Amino acid sequence: MVFAVEFWGVRGSIACPSPRHVVYGGNTSCLEVTAGDHQIILDAGTGIRDLGESLLKRDVRHAHLLLTHVHWDHINGFPFFGPAYAGNRTFEIRAAHLAPLGGVREVLAGQMGQPTFPVPLETMRSKLVFEDFMAGDTFFLGPDVRVRTVGLNHPNGATGYRLECSGKSLCYVTDTEHLPGKPDQKILGLIEGADLVIYDCTYTDDEFVSKVGWGHSTWQEAVRLCRAGNVRQLAIFHHDPAHEDPFMADVERQARAMWEGAFVAREGMRIQLA
Ligand SMILES: [Zn+2]
Ligand SMILES: [Zn+2]
Repeated sequence: MVFAVEFWGVRGSIACPSPRHVVYGGNTSCLEVTAGDHQIILDAGTGIRDLGESLLKRDVRHAHLLLTHVHWDHINGFPFFGPAYAGNRTFEIRAAHLAPLGGVREVLAGQMGQPTFPVPLETMRSKLVFEDFMAGDTFFLGPDVRVRTVGLNHPNGATGYRLECSGKSLCYVTDTEHLPGKPDQKILGLIEGADLVIYDCTYTDDEFVSKVGWGHSTWQEAVRLCRAGNVRQLAIFHHDPAHEDPFMADVERQARAMWEGAFVAREGMRIQLA
């Protein structure tokens, strides 16, 4: 059974389509996981527009969308997700910690409300199934994919995911802030022995000092966590828009020197786990 992940958006905060961001990519968070005959979309940042075009071309009729949280960079592409308007398709959309705000449907509908967006959620003709859960829950997508979740340390909350399929595991851990010198035990429990961890590496350790409370982590903390958790590979992810291509190339060099399992996620990259 195939188990693979493709990066459609790797940026944090805001899309940055500039000539200085072409190597690593300018779209915000969106991943596509293929698990057997299941398509699982992780976050709906601006990268989901291109993914939607691809799903239409491939005539994919069913997919799951798991949201880490609903900060703009993780949902801004949703109103431009073409397959949702196409009809004859089903999308199962899940998020945690939104029940007190009326649930994930209300939040996504609010983003598409007047006067900030002219096309309401009801215009989407495909079947949309919304489900709110609690961070910490474990559930299955079909019989083959087990999903574990934990709450992350982020303003307004965020959810970390571990997807298991075919004896392999992939973790998606963004957005989250660490406490220096105190590895996050919930994250360590989630990523233990994982084949691939995709982690919020917005800052460097040097930058982090002036960004405490902003809700993000560093590539050095990612390496420390992955080593402690016996992880095989780390994808450095959620790049700061201020980190242009030469800066990211330098991060990649330094990260690889510190730990050979590390690499920097680029838009268009595909990793096959099984
Ligand atoms: Zn973010
Ligand atoms: Zn966020």
